[in-house]
Amino acid sequence: MPRFLHTRLFFYVVIAALCVGAGIAWLSDLEWHLTPIREVACGELIAVLLFAGGAYLARTRGRSPLPRACILWRVMFFALLCHLTCNLDFLNDPMLAPLPMLLTAACLCFLWALLGRLSVIICCPFFILQLAQIAGYHQYGTRINSLVIAETLEASGEEVCGYLSSGNVFLAIAIIIGGVALSWVLVRILRSQHGRLELVNAGLLFALLAGACSLTMPRERQKSYTLWPVYEAVALVHAWSEALFHNHATIRQAESLPSPAQQPSSLHTLHGGEGVVLVVHIGESVRADRMGINGYARNTTPFLSACTHLINFPNCISAACDTCQAQIAILTDARRDIYEKDPALQPHTGSVLDLFAAHGFRIGSFFGKRNAAHLKYDMVVRILTRCAVERHHAPGSPWTSIPLVAEFLRNQPPTQNTVLFINNEGSHTPFFHYDHQGGPFLPAGSSFEDPAAHARDVNNAYDNTVHYTDEFVRRITRVLQGRPWLYLYISDHGEYLGHDGIWGRAALGESKRDYHSTTGCRVGMFFLYSPEFEKAHSHFAKALRVLKSHSSMLVAHEHIFHTLLGIFDIQTPWYNPSLDLSSSTVQPYSGPHPAVN
Ligand SMILES: [Zn+2]
Repeated sequence: MPRFLHTRLFFYVVIAALCVGAGIAWLSDLEWHLTPIREVACGELIAVLLFAGGAYLARTRGRSPLPRACILWRVMFFALLCHLTCNLDFLNDPMLAPLPMLLTAACLCFLWALLGRLSVIICCPFFILQLAQIAGYHQYGTRINSLVIAETLEASGEEVCGYLSSGNVFLAIAIIIGGVALSWVLVRILRSQHGRLELVNAGLLFALLAGACSLTMPRERQKSYTLWPVYEAVALVHAWSEALFHNHATIRQAESLPSPAQQPSSLHTLHGGEGVVLVVHIGESVRADRMGINGYARNTTPFLSACTHLINFPNCISAACDTCQAQIAILTDARRDIYEKDPALQPHTGSVLDLFAAHGFRIGSFFGKRNAAHLKYDMVVRILTRCAVERHHAPGSPWTSIPLVAEFLRNQPPTQNTVLFINNEGSHTPFFHYDHQGGPFLPAGSSFEDPAAHARDVNNAYDNTVHYTDEFVRRITRVLQGRPWLYLYISDHGEYLGHDGIWGRAALGESKRDYHSTTGCRVGMFFLYSPEFEKAHSHFAKALRVLKSHSSMLVAHEHIFHTLLGIFDIQTPWYNPSLDLSSSTVQPYSGPHPAVN
């Protein structure tokens, strides 16, 4: 058969396959309709003109306009192989599969035409990253996003070692071998193709077919992942630059803040030896509207619901969708996140915990099990809790920190005034920490490949994690029994389980919605206290009364720094009574927030 026929046959088969696919899709889903042609016609027209020009140029040089048909077939099959092994979303909607396949084939042709064998310098790391993304997603429920990159960049040697299990080492080796093997196959396919013009033409034709393919697809089904690998490469570069900016800017901000204890301050309620315990618990990803105490239909907070010494704040707005930024807003005098332009709303001093340490409180940080001298989960919180005399870290169940809290208290005189700083996984994705056998809301499971399709299970898993946190609080208060203690819980940010049309915090950026226009910025916040604390000082009793009177107020992270100072009556130039919820002159939060329901 002449070579030309081979080539023609190739495209007939591709076009026939596209038509059959579109036909099946059309019949199976009557809502499908042709995308308005003018939207893509311009791009298609340019591709047609370029291809015609390229074909003409090849003819004038006496060469074939396209590579040999066997090369085109191989490129197509290689594109399919790439998607099956490296594209996490490829099989989400098999009807859309031809589009990314053709686009990948076009990219491979263009890249090889430009760089030849040097293409592997780009392809090999990309394949390895994509394979790692799939492995990481299935193991830890997260994609390679700016947060993951930032945390990887700032990981301590100790933390890296924590991930070096034999399974992970084997997986890493397999991923590298997989990436190299794919690159090797690519070289084998295209090494004999020396005509760059033919490859450019082939790339244009593949792009043309991809465009034709998108014509048959309605916009609402054309998700960004159908533009893999272009979309993926852009997303990775974006995540990298965001991680670098965010990582450095946030850490620089936390590091640059002078300790509030550098200024003269005084504590008027305690003189040392009272055995008071303040618990500062920064929660993870807890939406206010998913807590039983805030009227949620399910009682996710049975312990708190039964508490008599509870001051609940159902209207609390979180400062940032990002954990580190939220931690800064909670512990320092920051009022907004790092992107805030008004300098008055940026932080001017460091962690409020420093002031407690300066007045004789012993600070312990609890992330779970003991991990030598490093607490490494994230550098910002390490900076903000550097006054801690002991630090513990565990990525596992939050409950593992409870015996450590008990031990910390046992190893010091019962009269020692203490701050317990707690920050654990809570309700963070993948909503893993709950009783998987006896959890109250079953069946539960978190499928991040398509959470909307598993909405019931994902919602159950999330509610179980809130229930688990309620039990965590109960267990901590049991450890504190008999002592004068005050427990502050405040979540760093919310979560999206289809709320505001978003699934998962990572999708917030993709949705282009402003965090504070969504319901995800309303977070859980409450104070608990023991009767002994109320009796320990008349100022405490008065402060709790005023605090309670403000519980229905619209409050925010910005109130925490000053409220803690106000309750304990710590006088410092940093104190602002208009942000102290235990002060009668407090002002409600006036920053951005969604409309009240
Ligand atoms: Zn968080």
